Amino acid sequence: MQMNEGLRPVTIITGASRGIGAAIAERLAADGHDLVLTYRDRATDAAAVVRACEASGARVLLLRADLADLEQAASVVPAAIAEFSTVTGLVNNAGITGRIGGFLDASIHEAELLFRVNVLAPIVLTQAAIAHMATDRGGAGGCIVNISSGAATSGAPNTYIPYAMSKAAINALTTGTAKEFGPVGVRVNTVSPGTTRTEMHAAAGRPNAPDERAPRIPMRRPGEVHEIAGAVAYLFSADASYTSGADIRVAGGI
Ligand code: NDP
Repeated sequence: MQMNEGLRPVTIITGASRGIGAAIAERLAADGHDLVLTYRDRATDAAAVVRACEASGARVLLLRADLADLEQAASVVPAAIAEFSTVTGLVNNAGITGRIGGFLDASIHEAELLFRVNVLAPIVLTQAAIAHMATDRGGAGGCIVNISSGAATSGAPNTYIPYAMSKAAINALTTGTAKEFGPVGVRVNTVSPGTTRTEMHAAAGRPNAPDERAPRIPMRRPGEVHEIAGAVAYLFSADASYTSGADIRVAGGI
């Protein structure tokens, strides 16, 4: 990322009210970022994350945006620029799985919703962010991290194949944009968590999934949110200045 000396990075994180997004927010705040955090419903949880980030010295803009509504998704980057005058980073984190089950029982309406949130909203956000960051458009460069999943390569049989498909699409978003926008100062990378202890599994209908899957994970335990946030923080750090198009798998050996 090319940035003016002395200026704090300004990073947008979608789905930052809880789970992995909240951990990324708190970690990047501690690393010196100002933040634009989005959430869908959980205003009280989001406010607590804002307070934690502010306690680390971050300036924070909190936005309610349902990313299934692509007009709301399109409003996020302009709101961030209006508040901070710049955006230097984006984490496409918000995601939903749909209900766990066999492929023949998968609801096409649920699949359409998860493609909006997991794929189309990241396209909209990434287009707006890169249009602002690209050095051939007067920008100062930037860094984008897409949160994918081990499901993108496992296919998640008997669990949630449409979700796995949406995460494979996110991997392609990273690969393509890293190549197209590397010449104009934008690095794009993926972090692919394995099963991580968050409320996402309850929403999918199997709250105990992390512990149920633990015996099949080489490290014999699910991931914790701070372990995913650490990989994201690396990609935003100066140590990752030549890292683009990468996929860091944080999955306990799977
Ligand atoms: P959680 O369910 O714990 O949190 C989801 C976050 O996304 C919340 O902030 C939620 O907001 C937000 N969100 C959900 N739907 C929408 C929407 N329609 N519009 C805007 N925001 C929305 O999920 P995790 O933290 O577990 O997952 C984060 C990312 O990590 C996802 O992309 C997921 O696919 C990925 N991942 C997770 C794994 C895991 O085992 N947990 C494994 C591999 C990948 P609100 O609180 O307001 O509802």
